[in-house]
Formats: sequence, C-alpha cells, structure tokens
Amino acid sequence: MPATIIDGKAIAAELRQEVADAVAERVADGKARPGLATVLVGDDPASHSYVRGKRKACEQAGIESFHHELPADTSQAKVIELVEGLNADQRVHGILVQLPLPDEIDEEAVLRVIDVEKDVDGFHPLNLGRLAQKGREPYFTPCTPAGILTLLKKAGAELSGARAVVLGRSNIVGMPVALLLVKENATVTVCHSRTKDLPAVTRQADVLVAAIGRAEMVRADWLQPGAYVIDVGVNRVDDPATERGYRLVGDVAFDEASQVAGAITPVPGGVGPMTIAMLLRNTLTAAERAS
Ligand code: NAP
Repeated sequence: MPATIIDGKAIAAELRQEVADAVAERVADGKARPGLATVLVGDDPASHSYVRGKRKACEQAGIESFHHELPADTSQAKVIELVEGLNADQRVHGILVQLPLPDEIDEEAVLRVIDVEKDVDGFHPLNLGRLAQKGREPYFTPCTPAGILTLLKKAGAELSGARAVVLGRSNIVGMPVALLLVKENATVTVCHSRTKDLPAVTRQADVLVAAIGRAEMVRADWLQPGAYVIDVGVNRVDDPATERGYRLVGDVAFDEASQVAGAITPVPGGVGPMTIAMLLRNTLTAAERAS
C-alpha cells in the first residue's frame, strides 16, 4: 500500500496561524509585539531567498522584523558588534544570523555572542548542550529538528521504544534530531559518511530521518516496510524540461520509497515549511519569556 504523505505545508500553515493568533492576543493585551532580527552577510542567493521567506512569514504572523544586511567583506568584529547591539535592543526578542557566513568569519565565534535567551535558531552551544543533557531543556530547540519531531508526532509515529536511524550528523540537523529522538525514548543510530553498509542499518529503522544532502540516495530497498521516513534533503538536479532548468529533490527517492514506507514527507512541501513555522514559534516564546 502506498505511504501516507506527511503534508508539511498544511501542518506548518496550522502552526503559523496559531502563532499569528497568539501574537494578536498579546498585542491586544497591550504586550510588546514579538520582534525578530535577521542578519545577512554577503550575497549568497540561497541565503537571501531564505531570509526573504522568513521575513515575509514574520510579517504574516504579526511579528516585527528588523533586517540587517552587510557586505561580504564585513569584518568578524563588525558582525559581533551588530549582534551585541541586538542583544541589548529590547524590541528584538529573537536573533537569527543566516548561515553560512563568509569563510573569513568564524561562525562559532558569532553564534556564541548571541544572547541564549534570543537564540531562536537554537544553535548556541549552550542550547545544544542543554538539549544533550538528561533532565535539562534548551531555551530553544533548533527549528528544522523541532519541525521534524512535530511532523513525526502529527503523523502518529510511536517514538518511545522505536528504532530510529538518522542519516547525517551536522550541528543544525542530524545531531539535534538524534538528541530529540533520544529524549523521546527512541533507540537512535546516527550514520555519516564513514558508516559501513548504510542500507543494512536503515532497513532496521522504524523511523528514518535523511539529512545528508545527496540527491535520492535512499532507495526503496533501504527501507523497512511501513517505516516513517522524513526527508530533510534539498538537492538541485538538472531538468531541462523545467523553466529553471532544474528541480528540487530530497535525499530519498520519493516515487519508489513511497511504495514501501508507511508515511513519508515530500520534497518540497515536507520539512522545509516547518522550519519557518518553528522559527516563528520560537520568536513568540522568546517574547513571552521576556515579558
Ligand atoms: P551537512 O552539514 O553537509 O551534513 C551532511 C551530513 O551527511 C554529514 O554528517 C555527512 O557525514 C553526511 N553524509 C554526506 N554524504 C554522505 C554519504 N554519502 N553517506 C552517509 N552520510 C553522508 O548538511 P546539513 O546542513 O545537515 O543538511 C543536510 C541536507 O538537509 C541538505 O540537503 C540541506 O539542504 C538540507 N536542509 C534542509 C533544511 C530544511 O529546512 N528543509 C534545513 C537544513 C538543511 P560526515 O559528518 O561524515 O561528513
């Protein structure tokens, strides 16, 4: 039987509406409107497009957005100075520094400066550290991993006791997803570029999260029948039949995988929309904590 399609777009729309309603209620109660500052350094077109999407979503949810665009040759000291200013600005409840930063800037050094209580991306080492510790909670959970967990729960996945396999161990997706799944009492295996015989590992997964950035690498015969499959990958493949000359595909070969999986996210329309919804939710949470 073909898999249930997990509609990230629809679930994200519901969450965004919930945030918009909560923001309207706050403002009607005379409380401060939540504010998100975005910092964009350089002219990477994908980063510009991501930040545009995030600002538009803020506007639709009634969240004020403070945008700062800096040229690619901006010094690390200048970026840090800007972040410190945003830390002190009471209108700003959340700070998002769009990654990647230009090579000359040490990302870690910049992320460390963000006030943890405004770290709505959840990438501050303290937030990731708290995520890894038993009995502690981060101030903010990174947005894409939080979105993935929400999709799994909305799709009805029983995570406690499940065997979960995460493909990828990046700081922004793979590792925090693995930590969140452990918190949900799943038994988690994290795979990466040195893992031997990936299909043998993934075939044991009740829940598979693919975040490797390799177009359609996960095939149908890598899956346990009935598995929940979350495809985080966003990869461009040439397609002369389209106007743009390319199309976006995930890390999972969707057409064949959806014949074996129990439930699966599409690309686009799965994880992507959830990332923005979670950013809005984290910004609202930051504003609520501040007041
Ligand atoms: P990343 O930092 O490049 O990390 C990729 C991970 O995959 C690494 O841990 C790497 O292993 C592993 N890997 C790469 N090739 C592999 C292979 N052939 N076999 C096994 N493991 C392999 O990527 P990322 O930032 O986590 O992003 C992953 C994908 O998710 C990308 O396509 C990205 O565009 C997408 N993404 C989507 C969203 C969204 O909102 N939809 C958000 C973030 C990312 P090593 O550690 O050994 O190098």
